[in-house]
Amino acid sequence: MAQLILLPGKERSAFKQHHPWLFAGAVGRLEGRARPGDTVEVLADNLRPLGRAAYSPKSQIRARFWTFDAEESVDDAFFKRRVAAAVARRQALPELRGQQGLRLIHAESDGLPGVIADQYGDTVVIQLTSAGADKWRHAIVAGLIKATGCARVYERSDSDVRRLEGLESATGWLLGEARDEPLTIVENGVKLAVDFAEGHKTGFYLDQRDNRLLLGQLAAGKDVLNCFCYTAGFSLQALAGGAASVLSIDSSGPALAQGQANLALNPELPAERAQWQEADVFQALRDFRKAGRLFDLIVLDPPKFAPSAAHAESAARAYKDINLLGFRLLNPGGLLMTYSCSGGIGLELFQKIIAEAAHDAGRQARIIRRLAGAADHPIALNFPEGEYLKGLLVQVD
Ligand code: SAH
Repeated sequence: MAQLILLPGKERSAFKQHHPWLFAGAVGRLEGRARPGDTVEVLADNLRPLGRAAYSPKSQIRARFWTFDAEESVDDAFFKRRVAAAVARRQALPELRGQQGLRLIHAESDGLPGVIADQYGDTVVIQLTSAGADKWRHAIVAGLIKATGCARVYERSDSDVRRLEGLESATGWLLGEARDEPLTIVENGVKLAVDFAEGHKTGFYLDQRDNRLLLGQLAAGKDVLNCFCYTAGFSLQALAGGAASVLSIDSSGPALAQGQANLALNPELPAERAQWQEADVFQALRDFRKAGRLFDLIVLDPPKFAPSAAHAESAARAYKDINLLGFRLLNPGGLLMTYSCSGGIGLELFQKIIAEAAHDAGRQARIIRRLAGAADHPIALNFPEGEYLKGLLVQVD
């Protein structure tokens, strides 16, 4: 096994915090040969062993630790254990037991950097985003099949970050094949189709499960505006919760069409209360303002404006813009449910942006709840970057 030897003092985050990432700037030299994804032994400058990691020569994250136990073998059995442990952790949580849509592996937070696995009914969809994860794909998939008994595994490794790792995109069936009918799940009592082949990420945003339920509990009698609705997960919960009206906006035609199809899958929901608008949210909110249109409850769940800290400034402007408009469009006593899924925007900064937006909109407002991802999207304490989704429920005067 090749050895990756760190520069003096650069072992701290691995040694003291077990942080799984090693940046290029921490690396002194590589002794021996290692190809992308190969397991290397990581040593401090004084040659103290720190653990074993996947080497990624093309990425700024030069290595990702598999283990901080310098003796642990990284082999098929290792991945079987890690995958089984991730699945067992979810089964141990009553709120997750029996969920038809479930994140089984949440990458670094489950000790498997670069590995995402989502289960939708009997289908597991995986996304591998690092050279190390790609290298061990067979062991990971075998572990998933064993731990879940799923008959179908589909790969959606087409995320942009693969390019940073020097990996081509890879999609298609790894086990089983497509059914004739669309794949559906029931989430909080609502039926939803999941387009795992063409949809975003692995097809659905499972991380918002609990927050959708909360929206349903708040929606009775309200005029709801769901911005960035994707396939209408929030909208359907609002309808189920007795909303007076729900207007769903997205710039993606296919996402809106899927949202409407999802509503049709739930004939007990009052379809006549749902409106759909294909539009740019930034523009639509301005148009509502001009038209004097107001809402009681607004959801803002935009895409990642800041994939990394480098984009934080422009992203902050975009978050401020939509939230300021959101505040202006609320009836007295209205609620704003607002999110950021940008890794580059921390909770503190997000709250500051929302505070400025409320101030500039001339609204007195208070946080009713802080919101986060569901329990199947845990945040390992040694990996604070895992906290990408943060939300606030804010009530205005
Ligand atoms: N709230 C959704 C997930 C949102 S993902 C859910 O619960 O499933 C972000 C969505 O924003 C995507 O569907 C994308 O098509 C849409 N989007 C991105 N930029 C947009 C814009 N400027 N205006 C409207 N929609 C946009």
